[in-house]
Amino acid sequence: MRAVLDHIGIAVEDIDKALAFYKDALGLEVEAPEEVPSERVRARSVPVGGPVLELLEATAPDSAIATYISKRGPGIHHVTLRVEDLRAALAQLKDRGVRLVNSEPRPGAGGSLVAFIHPSAAQGVLVELKQRAGSDVRLDVKRLTFGDLQLTVLHDGPFRLDGGAMFGVVPRPLWEKLTPPDERNRVQLAMRPLLVEATWGRMIVDCGAGDKMAAKQVDIYGLDRTCALDQALADAGLTSESIDFALATHLHFDHFGGATMLVDGVLRPRFSRARYLIRDAEWEDATHPHERNRASYLQEDFVPLEAAGVVDFFSGDSVIKPGVRVERTGGHTGQHQIVYIESGGRTGVFVVDLIPTTAHLQDAWIMGYDLFPMDTLAFKKRFIREAIEREYLIFFEHDPKVAAGYIREKNGKRFVEQVL
Ligand SMILES: [Zn+2]
Repeated sequence: MRAVLDHIGIAVEDIDKALAFYKDALGLEVEAPEEVPSERVRARSVPVGGPVLELLEATAPDSAIATYISKRGPGIHHVTLRVEDLRAALAQLKDRGVRLVNSEPRPGAGGSLVAFIHPSAAQGVLVELKQRAGSDVRLDVKRLTFGDLQLTVLHDGPFRLDGGAMFGVVPRPLWEKLTPPDERNRVQLAMRPLLVEATWGRMIVDCGAGDKMAAKQVDIYGLDRTCALDQALADAGLTSESIDFALATHLHFDHFGGATMLVDGVLRPRFSRARYLIRDAEWEDATHPHERNRASYLQEDFVPLEAAGVVDFFSGDSVIKPGVRVERTGGHTGQHQIVYIESGGRTGVFVVDLIPTTAHLQDAWIMGYDLFPMDTLAFKKRFIREAIEREYLIFFEHDPKVAAGYIREKNGKRFVEQVL
């Protein structure tokens, strides 16, 4: 079991008096008071570099904190360890005959799940196990009429990538405020393919990671396949067979891994009726990977498509179908491209890994994954200015919460006005 220190609960008689030491004497910052009616306590958190000291004052005489203080006086009441899977942790402890206060998870603060281990099992310490609030990713299917086109933001479930790699040279104290990492330093992301419906048919732009990954990769990337693209398509009233065209922005696994699937040990195209539209130079790069990009270009994601004769290659910046056009940005990969959706005088842009999330609005917030970061910078500087001026509707493929919005700038500060 992997566990990290979440907080230490300190029972105090009077929270304001306690602040004379923790706030005034030590000079620590203290967060606003929080009432937890179910535990009959008032709490104030004191962050101390990751873990937190939690000052707890009883609000009723039958509160566990009141009982503790009447027996032993103020002091350390419990130690809380954060685990990824509380049910699995409890099962492991039960197997070993460890005495538990709660044999099942119960709801804790902020949507978390918690369970206490009996102090007799832990050298006299009351140990609380905690699992963070389930999902900080929004997975729903959103539709939008865009001129003559119908746009639907789909998803292929949540995943996680290393926070440092997601923010490149930006130091963690800056990015963790926008995107708090988990105990393995990973940040929560989503995969959101975009469906374009027009008189010429249905096109899916990117298609997520799919279901071929080995258990080790599923664990590393925090893939949760319980709610993925098939479900999202079903929510939109569609199936894999509904797709006429699958356009690849680039061939990284988190964008086009879902293009193939394993059926009885054989790799097949995922969308049985579709033509797969791939930029020829990206195909060339993806099928000749080097040490730096080999982990992202998985041959089983795209080689079977060509073998099945379902790929249509295109060259250079092109109008793919009326209303759908691609432009190479380079940077992330040599041939990385973004997709312009244009109809009825409006422009939407699926910006892919140029601006993967709304936390990447500043020009220099560029992913460590990018092969040519200076190319990303040059394109991004020009593009964001244009996007603000011309009010492009931006589709963020990896943002866990914001599927689409307008980039605005006020007093030199950029933000996104969320639309979807
Ligand atoms: Zn990506």
